[in-house]
Amino acid sequence: MSLPDSISSFTNEDVCLKKFNSWKVGGKADYLALPKTFDEAKKALQWAKSESIEVSFLGCGSNVLISDRGVKGLVLCTKKLSAIEDTSCNEFFRLRCGAGALKFKVMRRFLKESLAPALFLSGLPGDVAAGVVMNAGVSEKELHPKEFVQVVESIKVLKEKGSVLEEYQFLNKDIVWSYRKSQGWGPGLITEVTLVWPKKDKVSDISERVLEAQNLRKSKQPLDLPSCGSVFTNPYNDPNNTEKKSAGALIEAAGLKGYEYGRAEISRKHANFIVNKGEASALDLHCALSLAQEKVRHMFDVNLVAEFRYLGDWEGLL
Ligand SMILES: Cc1cc2nc3c(=O)[nH]c(=O)nc-3n(C[C@H](O)[C@H](O)[C@H](O)COP(=O)(O)OP(=O)(O)OC[C@H]3O[C@@H](n4cnc5c(N)ncnc54)[C@H](O)[C@@H]3O)c2cc1C
Repeated sequence: MSLPDSISSFTNEDVCLKKFNSWKVGGKADYLALPKTFDEAKKALQWAKSESIEVSFLGCGSNVLISDRGVKGLVLCTKKLSAIEDTSCNEFFRLRCGAGALKFKVMRRFLKESLAPALFLSGLPGDVAAGVVMNAGVSEKELHPKEFVQVVESIKVLKEKGSVLEEYQFLNKDIVWSYRKSQGWGPGLITEVTLVWPKKDKVSDISERVLEAQNLRKSKQPLDLPSCGSVFTNPYNDPNNTEKKSAGALIEAAGLKGYEYGRAEISRKHANFIVNKGEASALDLHCALSLAQEKVRHMFDVNLVAEFRYLGDWEGLL
């Protein structure tokens, strides 16, 4: 099918997705759109709707496992919808961000104002829209804020309404937030995220603390190899996890630290990371993590739940 003129300047066919995700795996997208404006994003989605083509969304790809068979239909990547506008008032520091604005860039804005959100945002990969989708954050109990739920004022979402697409606004309270998940706004494309924090709460030693947080990550995580960060959410609420062990501790206790499947490895540095040692397939990664799930279930009766999302054609494999 040939692409209409309205989207052909920012949409390509048969695009390999390996460089669009942090695990560096996966096959091709039938179509990949990289819109630079809201209107372009809407046109791409309208085209897909009129042709009854499946749509998937992608930010920076740091929390997805893309199938080796690729992704059918249109993948809309928000990378270029990355504008950040300061809409602060007297009392509140406020940033209106395009879906694809990087957390790192947002972190720098908060850091410049010596405001606490810089602390949890430091070292978090990906963009702000996926930050909302995943309620991304850190586990340090003493930090406030430590998750997106605590800094989001509102989001805008492009959703289907009958035969057309319309943008809706959701306030923080309209969204159902939970650990590494948000619901109540989808399905749809998050196009804008507004973040807010009181101006009065300045943190005096913030630059040092951001640096410390980044160094701590470097010392604990295998950041030199492709990964998706933590593979599993921490199963602290599982009733069988009486000792409240982290996912990494359980995998390590199951004897799997350093285990290799093909070119995928359960990291020797941090057992809740599965790294691509070079040319791993998505299936290698899936098999390694499935084994960890199985062994932890068998030994400790604890269910490990994937934090990342499977994307594309996984039929018959999951
Ligand atoms: C080294 C490393 C460390 C990490 N550390 C952390 C951490 O400390 N804490 C943490 O929470 N996460 C962490 N992560 C995971 C990941 O960075 C976050 O979940 C991040 O928010 C994902 O952002 P992304 O832009 O890469 O999203 P993607 O992986 O591109 O997408 C994630 C999901 O959101 C959907 N999506 C993306 N954009 C939109 C949109 N605009 N509208 C609707 N749906 C959309 C996708 O379809 C997908 O289901 C880490 C990852 C890595 C690689």
